[in-house]
Amino acid sequence: MLDRIKQLENVARQLEPDAQTRDALFQKVKKYAETFLDQVYDLPTYVVTEDKGMGLYDSPISERPINMDEALALLKKNVDHPGLNPASGGHLGYIPGGGLVHSAFGDFLADITNRFAGIFFAGPGAVRMENTLLAWMANVVGYPADSAGNLTSGGSVANLIGVVTARDAHNLKARDFEKAVIYLSEQVHHSVDKAIRIAGLRECITRYVPLDDKYRMRADALDEAIKADKQAGLHPWLIIASAGTTDTGAIDPLSEIGEIAERHQLWFHLDGAYGAFFVLCDEGKKLLSGMNTSHSIVMDPHKGLFLPYGSGAVLVKDRQKLLDAHYYMPNYLQDTVATRDELSPADLSPELTKHFRGLRLWLPLKLLGVAPFRAALEEKLWLARYFYEQIRESEGFEVGPYPDLSVVTYRYLPNRGDADEFNRRLVEEIHKDGRVFLSSTILDGKFTLRLAVLAFRTHLDTIELTLEILRQKAEELENHG
Ligand SMILES: *Cc1c(COP(=O)(O)O)cnc(C)c1O
Repeated sequence: MLDRIKQLENVARQLEPDAQTRDALFQKVKKYAETFLDQVYDLPTYVVTEDKGMGLYDSPISERPINMDEALALLKKNVDHPGLNPASGGHLGYIPGGGLVHSAFGDFLADITNRFAGIFFAGPGAVRMENTLLAWMANVVGYPADSAGNLTSGGSVANLIGVVTARDAHNLKARDFEKAVIYLSEQVHHSVDKAIRIAGLRECITRYVPLDDKYRMRADALDEAIKADKQAGLHPWLIIASAGTTDTGAIDPLSEIGEIAERHQLWFHLDGAYGAFFVLCDEGKKLLSGMNTSHSIVMDPHKGLFLPYGSGAVLVKDRQKLLDAHYYMPNYLQDTVATRDELSPADLSPELTKHFRGLRLWLPLKLLGVAPFRAALEEKLWLARYFYEQIRESEGFEVGPYPDLSVVTYRYLPNRGDADEFNRRLVEEIHKDGRVFLSSTILDGKFTLRLAVLAFRTHLDTIELTLEILRQKAEELENHG
């Protein structure tokens, strides 16, 4: 038996490289990262390739190890080349991501030390760090100091936690679902519809409240719908609004919705995955007033704080409601009960073991301070407004509503032919060009182009280039079909 153990140990020890090997690996990874960062302002934002990363299938996982050079070559060719480059300032589609380098250092250190951030007993400092960040966010959105929250993998899971908390706070049981009514807008993010389904609430009645001409939920219509439903013997219980919709960046009338929720005793869940962090700058703060009238709110650091993907957050004003919906104590964790100075993430979310997400957020905020984040967010608002004014004045273009936040909608009206078809081809041409990336949507049945400014690397020169490309491609399509 001892022979066998020794034999296995010899092979197993390969999992731990020695200092010299580590250093060599580290240098190669560093060089790869540095080369990427040196080029990031010049790399295309969108790349169409024939094979779309198929080369990975030629190198299946097997007993045969490859070296770091080979691994990085596979990564470069198959992963970091084809498709969308979200690290680029030219990413102006969907809701752009970011990728602050400081977060990468945070992730690196979190991975090396592998602190357990799920339970206070095991990782008191890691849990305190996450709670410090959540308390900071609560303060930023105007929630009370004793609210609670969770750092999630993204906005979708954060929305799910919010909906589940609302469900349990209203003590909703399966037998109640058929009469229970949820109010939302057609412009709500699809992760909210998904959350309702996953939370088992598919049989609830969903009312899509009519919108105003800026795609915002109409508060008067919401109020009327709730009254009518109550009169009809139904059970209105949840309103889901957006602080910045994905399609148009519209902010629902938050104070009015909060007041309606209060008056009719409904839970008000606010999806601010895209927009909530704009509250950090004075311009955004004005636009988002009333945010704190919600009972729960979602905000995505991997959008509004420019972090790499994998960082969302949910806050719940009444911490007990979040605990009630997620707390569970199995026998095998009984030793952890004695040490409960802080709420633990595992008691506030579906996760037990999780990535120590706090460090990737804490490190950039500490190393940079909040000021550059405020400035970057306000810069993005003004860039969107500048683009709006410029594209409105451009020959042949028509614009949607003045942007609430940093999303602008617009389309080209060709002299002849179908406008939808023309704009579809215009997006295709821009994707083929690849210098910047724009996306489209359907608004009022019309094919509409979007510009979403939120990448921290997007500055005035990116917007000027985008305007130039749009005008040029539109003219080419107009003249040469
Ligand atoms: C991006 C987004 C989501 C989903 O968040 P993920 O982080 O992609 O899971 C939800 N709501 C809104 C408004 C969004 O913009």
